[in-house]
Amino acid sequence: MSAVRVPMSCDEFSEMAEGYALSVLDASELLACARHLTEPGPHTGCLETVASIQGLGAELANLLPSMPLSPVVWDGIESRLSADAERLRLERVEHQRPEASPNQGQA
Ligand SMILES: [Zn+2]
Repeated sequence: MSAVRVPMSCDEFSEMAEGYALSVLDASELLACARHLTEPGPHTGCLETVASIQGLGAELANLLPSMPLSPVVWDGIESRLSADAERLRLERVEHQRPEASPNQGQA
């Protein structure tokens, strides 16, 4: 049982590139994306897409180095990032999730 077709096309990759760059995909999806990137191509901007998304992350990290940030700022960054990650995950999982159990795993 494999949710991800291998090899995937550049179109398929581009749909998952954001999730791949942010590492919010399933292991099998991450692997499929990684495999796609190692293929000789030609690619339709696959590497560039990942690089630009990861570049945004790197830029964000570069903005933060010496300046002490208040916990409020961190909370804002974290909630935005996790909201994006959660949105991506929900989009991908929506049609294959058998039963929603939102309270599962709560401390
Ligand atoms: Zn490609």
